[in-house]
Amino acid sequence: MLKITILGSGTATPDLHRNASGLIIQTGATTMSVDMGPGILRRMCEASIDPKSIDIILLTHFHADHVSDVAPFLFASNYAYGPMRIDPFRLVGPRGLEQFFAALVLAYGHWIVPSNDRLIRHELDADGEDEISVSDIVIRSIPAAHTHPSLSYRLEHEGMSVTISGDTDVSENLVKLASDTDLFICECSLPGRLKTPGHLVPAEAGTMARRANAKKLVLTHFYPPCDETDVVQEAAAEFTGEIVRAHDHLVLEV
Ligand SMILES: [Zn+2]
Ligand SMILES: [Zn+2]
Repeated sequence: MLKITILGSGTATPDLHRNASGLIIQTGATTMSVDMGPGILRRMCEASIDPKSIDIILLTHFHADHVSDVAPFLFASNYAYGPMRIDPFRLVGPRGLEQFFAALVLAYGHWIVPSNDRLIRHELDADGEDEISVSDIVIRSIPAAHTHPSLSYRLEHEGMSVTISGDTDVSENLVKLASDTDLFICECSLPGRLKTPGHLVPAEAGTMARRANAKKLVLTHFYPPCDETDVVQEAAAEFTGEIVRAHDHLVLEV
């Protein structure tokens, strides 16, 4: 079973109810954070998810609303009060991750480098399909139609799958990656009338869910106009399966 907790269903817009991007995936043995935007550590505490339990931080891309809590997380790995996490943990993302990490160290110093070589970093191909297995989760990646580098991910565990679009525009890669997926968590930045290149509107998310034959569609990554629109109805014009409008602290299981 995969347990998914949406911690941030929002974007770059500061918003009391929709935190910037981040979600937690838990199996019995592994806890993974997919993206870690500003405020995600606080949302983790609200959800009673101990930051020390995080085994993998998986990043879709390097926009600040998706990665700004990585540095405080690393700092806490050394200096949070109380017993430290002893086991190694991983930072995984597209090629460019090493450059991002080096820039963080330049800005924040050695204080954020986890002691005793606990941090394992892994770059995935930014231009083609890639795959890595960590503990009991297989992570498949494919380039997204957003900034370069940006990745979409499919996570597989015990025959179940969750596909996470990350930020993207319409993407044949993503349709392929999400094929027959149990849960398709798809960005939906703006309503149809406000289509913006590099992001999706509900009908586009719905079309990709239908073409991928996804079992269930979760819409997330909402700019404020989405809260004045029935985004589920817009997506339902294209996808007849179950559609969920994400909110912070939404918990799903597959
Ligand atoms: Zn974003
Ligand atoms: Zn972005």
